[in-house]
Amino acid sequence: MRYVYAFEEGNKDLKDLLGGKGANLAEMTNLGLPVPPGFTITTEACRAYLHDKRLPDGLDEQIDARLTALEERIGRRLGDAADPLLVSVRSGAKFSMPGMMETVLNVGLNDESVHGLAAQGGERFAWDSYRRLIQMFGATVCDVPAADFAAALDELKHRRGTRDDLGLDADDLRTLVGTYKKVFAEHTGRDFPQEPREQLRLAILAVFDSWNADRAVLYRRQERIPADLGTAVNVVAMVFGNLGPDSGTGVAFTRDPGTGAQGVYGDYLANAQGEDVVAGIRNTVPLQELERLDKTSYDELLRIMARLEEHYRDLCDIEFTVERGKLWMLQTRVGKRTAAAAFTIAAQLVDEGVIDLDEAVRRVSGAQLGQLMFPRFDLSGAREELTRAVGASPGAAVGAAVFDARRAIELAERGEAVILVRRETNPDDLGGMIAAQGILTSRGGKTSHAAVVARGMGKTCVCGADDLEVGTDSFTVNGRRIAEGDTISIDGTTGRVYAGQVPVEPSSVVRYFEGTFEGDDPLVTAVDRLMRHADSRRRLRIRANADTGGDAARARRFGAEGIGLCRTEHMFLGDRRELVEKLILAEGLPEREAALAALLPLQRADFVELFRAMDDLPVTVRLIDPPLHEFLPSLTDLAVRVAVAGERGEDAGRERQLLAAVQRMHEQNPMLGLRGVRLGLVVPGLFAMQVRAIAEAAVEVTRAGGTARPEIMVPLVGAVQELETVRAEAERILADVIGDSGVAVAIGTMIEVPRAALTAGQLAEAAEFFSFGTNDLTQMAWGFSRDDVEGAFFWRYLELGIFGISPFESLDADGVGRLVRIASEEGRAARPGLKIGVCGEHGGDPDSVHFFHQVGLDYVSCSPFRVPIARLEAGRAAI
Ligand code: ADP
Ligand code: MG
Ligand code: MG
Repeated sequence: MRYVYAFEEGNKDLKDLLGGKGANLAEMTNLGLPVPPGFTITTEACRAYLHDKRLPDGLDEQIDARLTALEERIGRRLGDAADPLLVSVRSGAKFSMPGMMETVLNVGLNDESVHGLAAQGGERFAWDSYRRLIQMFGATVCDVPAADFAAALDELKHRRGTRDDLGLDADDLRTLVGTYKKVFAEHTGRDFPQEPREQLRLAILAVFDSWNADRAVLYRRQERIPADLGTAVNVVAMVFGNLGPDSGTGVAFTRDPGTGAQGVYGDYLANAQGEDVVAGIRNTVPLQELERLDKTSYDELLRIMARLEEHYRDLCDIEFTVERGKLWMLQTRVGKRTAAAAFTIAAQLVDEGVIDLDEAVRRVSGAQLGQLMFPRFDLSGAREELTRAVGASPGAAVGAAVFDARRAIELAERGEAVILVRRETNPDDLGGMIAAQGILTSRGGKTSHAAVVARGMGKTCVCGADDLEVGTDSFTVNGRRIAEGDTISIDGTTGRVYAGQVPVEPSSVVRYFEGTFEGDDPLVTAVDRLMRHADSRRRLRIRANADTGGDAARARRFGAEGIGLCRTEHMFLGDRRELVEKLILAEGLPEREAALAALLPLQRADFVELFRAMDDLPVTVRLIDPPLHEFLPSLTDLAVRVAVAGERGEDAGRERQLLAAVQRMHEQNPMLGLRGVRLGLVVPGLFAMQVRAIAEAAVEVTRAGGTARPEIMVPLVGAVQELETVRAEAERILADVIGDSGVAVAIGTMIEVPRAALTAGQLAEAAEFFSFGTNDLTQMAWGFSRDDVEGAFFWRYLELGIFGISPFESLDADGVGRLVRIASEEGRAARPGLKIGVCGEHGGDPDSVHFFHQVGLDYVSCSPFRVPIARLEAGRAAI
């Protein structure tokens, strides 16, 4: 088995084997860029080691052989006393991962070779390099607390009256090496290893082991990175940025990763090594300064950056070092960027002729578009940032800090905006979470209870703010105290927390979709272009779930091509409750008919509004679904009212009647009870009234010159006989109302009971269309009560990895998705051309949209706000 590859032997497409860093070092090497020579130990070696708990056979020999080749090429031997070769040992998995061991520099230095190095580069440089090795090796390989090294360094600087490490001379650094060795020995019980080959071997093992460090495991779970990939290790000949003022190290981006603006961005630090740039040891200077310091290196860097962009056809980030006027490339990769930059850069690259529009659309995502649609904090003014943590559910929320769920509910009822702050949340906090504008916790990551529930509710959430000390009526962070009632602002996208009220600005992208954006904004232009292209490519149609004319009109502006779900039960609330009560309590036919007759014109008016807003587009109306008792007052309230009235000797006739009805209709398990089509079959006249209202509204709109295209959808069907019964009655009414008006009304069924999916061939005989209600289908396929489980135990399931994401958030392709496939195939086999859509929340979820595209559905329907996301993802799925 081959475990070790020289950089010359790899390329950028070998990330699985060589890790991201190794694959890109190989790519740069083969592009002829100045990369220090080195080699990569494969992820396969790591997997074998982690599995067998020992290095695989032959690995040591392969490393030796590569090392010898490296030594011969450079003309120095690892750790040679007179003129040592030094190397860095760098981890590099397929995905970069916080919590893993990073890098050990200067491997090969010891008490002897430090003198050899001094002879080459000077005393100060040599001792500086040696103390760095002990520090990095100690902290990352042997778990010596980094703070102990830092404390020793600070103490020395203090003693020497300098704040800057450049204020320490060679003697100081020699002393520091002595101190570090003591720190090392104290913590490990052994002396700092002097044998270069042993240093190398231990560092490699430490990289492998760090794959399973707690933080790395947690991160993988949160980001849904497979746990069995393993990491590669890169061994790279050292080049030195700490050789004096003509040396240095830096990082750079080929474009601004924040906004996507063109130009060169980066930081540079003279006379420094490796991590100094990011560690904030000294103040870096903007990359442009390098032009003044060393024009030759600067020009070459710019040339290389242009070359890399051209080669990778994307924004690259870069790590480099200048050793006495000679530029070395130490890393590159296609750089991370904000959502705004992703769109802007993709459009720019199209303009530059680097990529085509298909590729541009592929490079952005619905999730990024979603981020751009949330209101944002306007950060142009002064503000006080308290901390940065995990952005767990996006949005910008402002409110008074409260520390208790009940208190949150209390204040919210008074109309105050609150942010619920907890160490962590549990199901008891649910009411407070609903009442709050946002949620802030000090523990837990993206899959904590708070995060999962907040995302489910679409509520802003920042979690894992571990420098917050949360008490019962205040929290402190870095010495600052925020008491109950103090205003804070939390950003669920960036994870930042601010004291006070940060102004919120509406998203320019939403204004663009609304048609109210004016002016010139590269982001809006880019979004417009990519959306148009996605629309031209997608095969799925996108509809919206909307119940009112207002929602429908908005959805249409956002690009909806119809309504996939109008929930008629929303039309029975408010003032109309009383009419519904009458219907439920009706004792004879005349009473019931009177109640229905009163509801009819109201429903008709609702539909007229909808059909007008969606003129000439299909509108799917679902007949009433939830159990009737949901329209009645609660059992407890009523019982109390009746009892109190009784005590006072008052007449409570109506209430008594209501109470009896509620008791009669009480169900142990209403979601599996008398609802949907079952209700229509049991309560005479109810569905008939709705069908009549739909038909009359359609005729009215058509007579007025519009085009209504209603589709009547029967919910919760499990057997074709149910559908046939409803259909027969509906057809009679339609024939009666529509007459010769020319209106066409389709009748179809929801597929949301597993039995419906499994008998879809039969159902298709009686249905002109199917619409998957994936919320109920998920609920019934898994047996999860969707109103209860997310808050109750989903966090645990996510923690255990039973699923990576809630099946209510993203369609469970294996289980629920299988039902969708079966029903589509068998439905279409029975009725070719059967129109099939989805109207569950999944219609707006990117991964689910791709799945529905693959299955070959005709459309997805989602909430109006997610329509653009679905459009984009449907385009991406088709490219
Ligand atoms: P990370 O994954 O944290 O970026 P790296 O392996 O890239 O870790 O190492 C961090 C830094 O260490 C690099 O940016 C570079 O400055 C320095 N470094 C790594 N290897 C070498 C080397 N062979 N010569 C000089 N500096 C190096
Ligand atoms: Mg790096
Ligand atoms: Mg349903």
